[in-house]
Amino acid sequence: MTKLTLGEQYKLEGEPLKVLTYPSAILKKIAEPVVNFNEEIAELSKNMLFTMYRAPGIGLAAPQVGHSIRIFCIDTDFERERVTDSDGRDSFRYSSFNPIVLINPVIKEKIGEMVYQEGCLSFPGVFEDVKRAEKVTVEYQNTEGELQVLEAEGVQAICIQHELDHLDGIVFIERLSQLKRTFLLKKFKKKKPRKS
Ligand SMILES: [Zn+2]
Repeated sequence: MTKLTLGEQYKLEGEPLKVLTYPSAILKKIAEPVVNFNEEIAELSKNMLFTMYRAPGIGLAAPQVGHSIRIFCIDTDFERERVTDSDGRDSFRYSSFNPIVLINPVIKEKIGEMVYQEGCLSFPGVFEDVKRAEKVTVEYQNTEGELQVLEAEGVQAICIQHELDHLDGIVFIERLSQLKRTFLLKKFKKKKPRKS
């Protein structure tokens, strides 16, 4: 069982994981390749997707949830709207899912340039323009260990590059100009680090 149960459109199954914020040490580490495609990896992938949708975010890397291994998940297509339940409580309705879990990803080709305003669940409240490739071809393994190829462009390509950086211990702030980067990193270091 490696797939999220998304059949009912807005009934997501999974366990929310704690998302670590900067300057957690694990965010600076180079993550290890996944070797065994076992139930543990499948479970982690499922819970990462769950955590990502719930945040909400369009990508989440394993180091952000405390696992220094080369996995990230993305979904740049899903939609979320606030709805009122039959019992009067606010909740969210999710639709148009396109969950992809990329394990041991390698970018084979980069084309063009594009500037996009990025955010990161490990840097709450920070949104900055970052320049990256506009199209990427990425090879990866799925949760069964099967080799896959994805040609991505636009937001999906940006997201893949942002998440792959996490696996190499790079946070998006490091892709900014020296001035902005120094300012933002200082600001975050001053905050009390959360337990990691
Ligand atoms: Zn991030």
